[in-house]
Amino acid sequence: MTQPYRPRRPYTDVNPRAYRAQYQPQIDAATARAEQAEAAIERVRALHTRSPNTGDCNHCSERDYPDYAVPHPCPTIRALDEPQPNDQKDEPR
Ligand SMILES: [Zn+2]
Repeated sequence: MTQPYRPRRPYTDVNPRAYRAQYQPQIDAATARAEQAEAAIERVRALHTRSPNTGDCNHCSERDYPDYAVPHPCPTIRALDEPQPNDQKDEPR
């Protein structure tokens, strides 16, 4: 007959409130960093929009148009959307 599963440390050993209090500052810092990064990406996307008239990137083409027109999605938007070879991979811990 197999033995019933028994965790080595009963769950009652972990005080959820203390556990949360211990890690909450790191969780808050990581959340703030993620929100700042997402907001920065949104500001970049708001700049690099597609012109409905020409199909070019409004930001990349604005100064020298029509001599220098960058089709949308421009390299900036492609860099945001497409995985890059140097992107961090999940490392085994
Ligand atoms: Zn652009």
